[in-house]
Amino acid sequence: MAAAVTPCIRTLRLKVKTEAYPWLNAAATEVNQVWNWSNATSAKAARPFAGPARWLTGFDLDKLAAGASEYFEHVGSDTIQRVNAQFATRRRQFRKSKLRWRVSWGARRSLGWIPFKAAQLKRKGESLRFAGKAFRVFEQELLEGARWKCGCFAQDALGDWWLCLPVERALTRSVAEQEAVGLDLGLKDTVSTSDGEKLEAGHFYRDIEFKIARAQRRGHKRQAKRLHRTAARRRKDALHKYSRKIVDRYQVIVVGDVSSTQLARTRMAKSVLDAGWGMLKAQLHYKGQQAGRSVLIVSERNTTRTCSSCGAHTGPTGLDRCAVRTWMCSGCGDTHDRDVNAAKNILSAGRCPSSVSGNESPSSAAPTSQANRRCESGKSALKAA
Ligand SMILES: [Zn+2]
Repeated sequence: MAAAVTPCIRTLRLKVKTEAYPWLNAAATEVNQVWNWSNATSAKAARPFAGPARWLTGFDLDKLAAGASEYFEHVGSDTIQRVNAQFATRRRQFRKSKLRWRVSWGARRSLGWIPFKAAQLKRKGESLRFAGKAFRVFEQELLEGARWKCGCFAQDALGDWWLCLPVERALTRSVAEQEAVGLDLGLKDTVSTSDGEKLEAGHFYRDIEFKIARAQRRGHKRQAKRLHRTAARRRKDALHKYSRKIVDRYQVIVVGDVSSTQLARTRMAKSVLDAGWGMLKAQLHYKGQQAGRSVLIVSERNTTRTCSSCGAHTGPTGLDRCAVRTWMCSGCGDTHDRDVNAAKNILSAGRCPSSVSGNESPSSAAPTSQANRRCESGKSALKAA
């Protein structure tokens, strides 16, 4: 049931073949010099020894840097202008007159970064041309017929270079087969849906944790970094596949508002970061947007405690009750899986925002008091068990 075709921007990330690494490393050093010059110049303009202070924009920096490109071997004026523009954006974003220096050498070295304008990168047969240099990338066929915007070359922690290129892609919007779903994000199974399906937590980090520890003990830094990258990629891959499946299948997607940054400060931090909640939410959001779905965020308050059949607060509470995986409602006698029950509550909260908030909302005072009584009996039942 395909409908309208809409263009959207996607960022391609293509690995650069190794023969270009020395050139890119040298160019990155020059980019750092430009950045540091911008930093020093605009800091001085913001707090001059004499005269009025000035807040330099990207254009001001471009004017001041005019002609500088002839002193650089690798980067041209277009890249210098992109660095200035990026610097001005970051400075505005962080509201600081001075940002961090970019470091080219030593242990605290900044990861390489070379921005460019769309016209600087050209396709030429099997290779790409940038600043008078030919590059080859893996998966070159993805660039077939693509129109790109300003992009960059970026280095990762292992020293590998990637070409990051935002390209326009046509997307077909469609209508999903099924109506709505609630998602509960947890630690045991990463995600449970209100239909009772579960995405197994991958333990992407925990699986190779001992290998990382061993590599670090033996002083194999590079191997440890490589293993970290493997874990991150596995996690990303699993989440991409899952979010695609959910977006393809459901029209309305309701997610709880659990804060991964808050939970990441507790003793469950490693599990939370391993589960990759934030990433999954972000993926659901943009994929949903592109496919024309509604993605709703609702409060997770009481979703675990509330029985999805009768609405009584008879379920397990608190972090310490995480051990309770299944429980029986003392109000109606239904047996629930902890996470699936929560997902069902999240779904109904998405349909009618006040239904889960329980004793907080004055409109549902009468059923709540009843529910509270049931809740008390439920607690005593749990204690007795
Ligand atoms: Zn019940």
